[in-house]
Amino acid sequence: MNVLIVEDEVSLARELEIFLNGANYICETSHNGKSASEKIAVNLYDFILLDLGLPDCDGLDLLKKIKTHNAEAACLILTARTEVNDRIKGLDLGADDYLPKPFSMLELQSRMQAITRRKFGLKHTIINLGEFVIDMNERSITHNGNTVSAITKKEYDLIAYLILHKNRTLTRPQLSEHIWGSVVNDDYDSNYIDVHIKNIRKKLSVYAQPEWLETVRGLGYKIKM
Ligand code: CA
Repeated sequence: MNVLIVEDEVSLARELEIFLNGANYICETSHNGKSASEKIAVNLYDFILLDLGLPDCDGLDLLKKIKTHNAEAACLILTARTEVNDRIKGLDLGADDYLPKPFSMLELQSRMQAITRRKFGLKHTIINLGEFVIDMNERSITHNGNTVSAITKKEYDLIAYLILHKNRTLTRPQLSEHIWGSVVNDDYDSNYIDVHIKNIRKKLSVYAQPEWLETVRGLGYKIKM
C-alpha cells in the first residue's frame, strides 16, 4: 500500500516514514499544502495521513481536494488542534478517522489497519483461498499448516493487495503504483508484474494450484473469492 504523509513537522514526518516503511508501506512525504496538492493531483494513494495545521493552507481544504482527486484513498487526520469542530468537520468532509497528537506509532498502525479492514469489508484477518490460508496480520501464507516461506515480501504484498480488491481486476500500472510506489513505462511495468505473478504461481503450485489467482487477458490480474 502506498501512503502520502502530509506533515510539516519534518522530524515527525521522518519518524512516520521510517515506521511505516518498516511496516511494509510505501511512503511519500509532503511538508506543505502545495507539494501535497501536486502529488494528490497526479498520484493515487491508498492512504493519506493528513496534518490539519499546515504552513501554507488549511488541511481541511486539502481534504476536499483529496476527495476529488483521490476519492478511494483512506484518510486519517493527524491533528494537534484541540477544537472538536475541526475534527468533526474533517469527518464530515469524508476523513475516515482522526488521531490527536501526540500519538504512538503502534496506535497509528492499529488505526490504519482498522480503517483498511472497514474500507474493504474485511471481517476476518484470516483468509481462506482454495487450499491456502492467508493471515493478513502475520503476513503469512500457509498450506495445511506449513508456511509457504518461499514467498517474498513483495510477492506477499501483491497477493494481499489483490485480496483487498477481491473480484476486481487490477491493471499492471495500478499494482506497480500501489506496491512499488511509482508508475514507470508500460513495457517495463507489465513485464515486472508478470514475472512476480509467475513466481508466485510457481512457488504456490508446489503445494496446490492457486486457481483463485486469475490473469485477465489484456487487463491485469484478480483474485477470485
Ligand atoms: Ca502542523
